[in-house]
Amino acid sequence: MESKVVKFGGSSLADAVQFKKVADIIRADNARKYVVASAPGKRNDDDIKVTDLLYKCFELAIAKKSIDDIFEKIRERYNSIISDLELDFSLDEELDAIKAGIIHRAGRDYVASRGEYLNAMVLAAYLGYDFIDAETCIFFDDNGNLDTEKTNRVLSELLIQHSRAVIPGFYGCMSNGSIKTFSRGGSDITGSIVARAIGADIYENWTDVSGMLMADPRIVDNPKVIDVITYGELRELSYMGASVMHEDAIFPVKVSNIPINIRNTNAPDDPGTMIVPSASVGSANIITGIAGRKGFSIINIEKDMMNAEIGFGRRVLEVLENHKVCFEHLPSSIDTMSVVISTSELRSTKYEMVAEIAKVVNADRVTVEDGIALIAVVGRSMERAKGTAGRIFAAIAKQDINIKMIDQGSSERNIIIGIEENDYKTAIRAIYSEFVK
Ligand code: ASP
Repeated sequence: MESKVVKFGGSSLADAVQFKKVADIIRADNARKYVVASAPGKRNDDDIKVTDLLYKCFELAIAKKSIDDIFEKIRERYNSIISDLELDFSLDEELDAIKAGIIHRAGRDYVASRGEYLNAMVLAAYLGYDFIDAETCIFFDDNGNLDTEKTNRVLSELLIQHSRAVIPGFYGCMSNGSIKTFSRGGSDITGSIVARAIGADIYENWTDVSGMLMADPRIVDNPKVIDVITYGELRELSYMGASVMHEDAIFPVKVSNIPINIRNTNAPDDPGTMIVPSASVGSANIITGIAGRKGFSIINIEKDMMNAEIGFGRRVLEVLENHKVCFEHLPSSIDTMSVVISTSELRSTKYEMVAEIAKVVNADRVTVEDGIALIAVVGRSMERAKGTAGRIFAAIAKQDINIKMIDQGSSERNIIIGIEENDYKTAIRAIYSEFVK
């Protein structure tokens, strides 16, 4: 029988009204058997997420200050959800124990994780589903990385014993028994881990938008929703700043080729965005999406006959390695090589590195240009379409914008251009309107 894992984000579980929408969604499809819950999020723009209130409590306790006021806000949030849902259920004992734990210096991750723990308990009671504590089935190794194989083994064995269950997102357990969280927004990863463990047909990630947008809505007016995107395209766009879920959430489902469907709890009839493993799915647009980031620097290295010199590239990259600096792109021509690096990586070692590079390759000239923005134009259909790059460059040139760097990945589904930061928004708008009519 078909099985779906559904994850609901904080805004989907922020109050009783949202809980009711969530229950309606789950009950509308019998295959929605395993539910991953976030902590209550913001109910309005001025509200504070429960996770942030918990972090605040932790800081106050460390500073030996009273947590009473903030903790009461947390208690009130859960109690109002419970009473508005008319549940015959109380979290008082749990809340008292957590409060005592915080005062007695429980660990930061333990404190933060309690938002999901309590919310999943409420949701399980409301749905009549089993509650499975993530502490018993999501494991981290001693370096704080997810222990993928152990987690998958234990979780799969556990889930078959529960026909329907709610699992709190965001955290798991270290081998010494202490609680460890993922980075912020990590419930998305938990959902993906659960989907893999049960071999789900689909992982539905319910949030407050109707899918991933083709461009940043703060830059492009009303951008279209992406209907289908591949794992690979999503990686490229997320890396460049487009976000619809936690970046690492893709990895567990990817192992088993499970598709992810981004859906909107407040508009459940919208189909949302399907994130699929294979690129065989066609696309209405040549490009799938555009994303970008500011804050890059380009180191330009010039030397006559550079292309004939064996080991040139290695020597340049060794300097970066010695300074523990990552590079993003490495475009080159016959007598020049450029290294694109995030400016924040470069800051403290900039001049030292430039001098070293000049020395190790005996360069004619090494210069650094800061204030560079990178824009990624991503689309699986670009592979077959001729002239896409030409259309991108023409659209940008029409705006009188100078392109400083071009890089096309060998996959041909990604063209990256480097421009001055001042031109960033104009360039994105120009590319969007060239391809999306
Ligand atoms: N509650 C956590 C956060 O605010 C994790 C999550 O919502 O996914 O980051």
